[in-house]
Amino acid sequence: MSYRNWGRTLAFQPEQLLFPKKEEEIVRVIRQAIEEKKTVRVVGAAHSWTPLIETNHILLSLDRMQGLISLSPTQMTATLWAGTRLYRALPALWKAGFSLLNQGDIDRQSIAGAFSTGTHGTGREFGILATQAIHYRFISGEGKIYDVYPELQPELFRALQVSLGLFGVITQVTLQVTPRYYLRLIKRIEPLEVALEQSEAYLEQYRHFEFFWFPYSEVALVKLTEVSETPGQTSWWRRWAVDKVWENGAFWVINKLSQWAPQLSPTLCRFASRNMTAEIRVDKAYRIFASPRWVRFREMEYSVPAAAGPEVLREIRRWIDQHSPAVSFPIEYRYVKGDEIPLSPAYGGDRVLIAVHMYYRMPYERYFRGIESIFQAHEGRPHWGKMHTASSAYLQKVYPELESFLTLRQKYDPQGVFLTPFLQRMLWGEKILLST
Ligand SMILES: Cc1cc2nc3c(=O)[nH]c(=O)nc-3n(C[C@H](O)[C@H](O)[C@H](O)COP(=O)(O)OP(=O)(O)OC[C@H]3O[C@@H](n4cnc5c(N)ncnc54)[C@H](O)[C@@H]3O)c2cc1C
Repeated sequence: MSYRNWGRTLAFQPEQLLFPKKEEEIVRVIRQAIEEKKTVRVVGAAHSWTPLIETNHILLSLDRMQGLISLSPTQMTATLWAGTRLYRALPALWKAGFSLLNQGDIDRQSIAGAFSTGTHGTGREFGILATQAIHYRFISGEGKIYDVYPELQPELFRALQVSLGLFGVITQVTLQVTPRYYLRLIKRIEPLEVALEQSEAYLEQYRHFEFFWFPYSEVALVKLTEVSETPGQTSWWRRWAVDKVWENGAFWVINKLSQWAPQLSPTLCRFASRNMTAEIRVDKAYRIFASPRWVRFREMEYSVPAAAGPEVLREIRRWIDQHSPAVSFPIEYRYVKGDEIPLSPAYGGDRVLIAVHMYYRMPYERYFRGIESIFQAHEGRPHWGKMHTASSAYLQKVYPELESFLTLRQKYDPQGVFLTPFLQRMLWGEKILLST
């Protein structure tokens, strides 16, 4: 049986695919893996492009460990099973009167999967999603259960916030929630240079700011979001027309044309940019944050120091104009508040995150490599779940606490149960520590 990820960059055959329902089952699996010298990886929604979940041995899915465990309206905290998909958690929280402070672009991920790779949204006041966590429960590589709180075990807690599944299997996460709220989304088309020049002002003025820019075009689709005191009216047919027919259906046709006739890509990009939909919409916060993404693609994203963001995007634009890659997907530009999480893309200060995409049936290597060299010239940090070719030496340079993260990790997984050849290569270079 072959296991595939969403982006179709992985297809592998684990010896066993297990769906535990209880923590004790996970403890048993890990203890047996130690005895048999097997590797264990956990999968959430398989929405990462990098081979983080790949193993020939045991793949654990927490799909049967989903749902709300408890809610404290006074402390405004919610404890969830770690396998819970965001799209299930968010309506349940809404019903109970709560929302998350911030979200990413989609809601298909599992909570633990999203947090473990540093998944983020956008906004000057908002850190990566894992900054909303206030407690983790996990089962280590020795098969022991730990409850971890920032006040009691600060170092371990910070490491767990973005841990790539390297410390163990996270089974429960407690989140800080906020009273539920509505958001007003303003989508408008602006010249790219205006969006870049205004980015500081937009970040000041709006709760969330981001934009999408189609290569070869002059304009960007700017998304500005603010809290709305009133619920607003959501017309289902307009949602259907915009989200499904245009942003997915017509966009799929554009990508197919680009695949069949790559020389048409610049024309198709300009066509798409001229036909992006401006709109103003008010809805429940979780519905405004997430968009349906039906057209499969590959993605690479790096964070760069916030002040360098506009210049990096201009460099990318010059590279595209010079090398004319066949690409029909836009580039996304977001902002994240700095934090102190060792493996966070925003460790040590605010960052701009720039993502390039390619339709999954088109060659991407030349395009991604070209743009990656620009990111790396600015000491960019790759998103752990998205495609990159960063070496372990490079990662050590841009994640200054990577080494201490790995040293601490060793304490909770002394036998290397969670280590695979990919992770060893990425984090330690060619030095293979254990054979799997
Ligand atoms: C269409 C699309 C849109 C996206 N949008 C965004 C976005 O807006 N912002 C952004 O930052 N990223 C985005 N991503 C990337 C995505 O959020 C990350 O790759 C995320 O990790 C996927 O979550 P998942 O549940 O699929 O985790 P998986 O990909 O299944 O796993 C990711 C990592 O988490 C580990 N893990 C999973 N569950 C557990 C657990 N219970 N215990 C310990 N470790 C665990 C896995 O071992 C692996 O290392 C997007 C991806 C796609 C495909």
